[in-house]
Amino acid sequence: MVKECCICGENAEVENTGEDCHSYIKYECKVCGNFIISIEIRGNIDKDKYASFLHYHNIFLSEQDKKKFWYLVSGKEVEKIQKRYPHNRVVTNQEIEDWYPQTFSEKINTILLGFSKLSKYDGSSIEMTHEQCCSAFFAKRYNYDNNNNESETTQEERNEQFEYIEDYLQGNKFVRIDKSSEKISITLLPDGLKRIEELQKIKTH
Ligand SMILES: [Zn+2]
Repeated sequence: MVKECCICGENAEVENTGEDCHSYIKYECKVCGNFIISIEIRGNIDKDKYASFLHYHNIFLSEQDKKKFWYLVSGKEVEKIQKRYPHNRVVTNQEIEDWYPQTFSEKINTILLGFSKLSKYDGSSIEMTHEQCCSAFFAKRYNYDNNNNESETTQEERNEQFEYIEDYLQGNKFVRIDKSSEKISITLLPDGLKRIEELQKIKTH
């Protein structure tokens, strides 16, 4: 059944699953990829962090592995799921919190490393939808008030966040971004490649 993806809000193929058919929900989403989320955590997560986590982890997977489902579960469900589905990837809220970049420069580094993964060769263009870019750029699709009540950000607020990152990346000559066609086309520029090389050196040393 086509319904809203519980993470990014786009249309996704959605199905109840699990032993009693009510404990887990399976999503096939063009933005977030394939995942199965536990009902226990679904209403209780920072969806923006999940969207970015899935984006950045899916781009490192082979086409074959992308078809497998991520299990997004609570800490106490991990063991049960790993035993039952040893070939699937299981991730908890804590792991996503620990992965999420804390500072602006960490976010920029993650964005550039992600582009380098998607770029086939120097000068190649990377095609992404606006929604995929929102996940990649750590844009907030939701606001949470002090009582953790959630509201969706407006299209204007999303565009502002998108343009903020876009201006920074282009201003530093890290990338060239072309939004003239339906998909957004991104090309890494020599200064971007240089920063990526420096980051990769730090990683391997
Ligand atoms: Zn989604």
